[in-house]
Amino acid sequence: MAIRNIREIGDPVLNKKCKEVNELTDRTRELIDDMFDTMYEANGVGLAAPQVGILKRIVVIDVTGEDPILLINPVIMESSGEQRGYEGCLSVPGKNGIVTRPNYVKIKAYNEEMKPFELEGTELLARAICHELEHLDGHLYVDRVEGDLVNTADLVDQDYE
Ligand code: ZN
Repeated sequence: MAIRNIREIGDPVLNKKCKEVNELTDRTRELIDDMFDTMYEANGVGLAAPQVGILKRIVVIDVTGEDPILLINPVIMESSGEQRGYEGCLSVPGKNGIVTRPNYVKIKAYNEEMKPFELEGTELLARAICHELEHLDGHLYVDRVEGDLVNTADLVDQDYE
């Protein structure tokens, strides 16, 4: 297990489309362990593989600090409702911006045994899922921000990073 270097906005790897994972090799398992370590070390609630320079459809999320979620090849099946709030990204350090997201999503993904499962999320989890899945197609939240990015230090209450 190791902490990996988080790529920042401007790095072309963040704008590339990621490839599906077909099998879990030892190397990929090590990547997943490292992604969790890297996310927790950076106090983030989500991290996508391209953020550590790997173009694979893998996401880790933990919105409470006690519920680690691994998503391999995740796909959104349903979404509904709307939430509007500040969002941040470990690849855009020190900044936040307002983004509107669905308030509910239902996704399909594969777990650490490459078994398919479904997951529903609301509020912060729904926001994190939408944010992280967009990373897999090379998109950053800054393209969706309403208004200007603000400095994290100026925010009293931060919804998501
Ligand atoms: Zn991000």
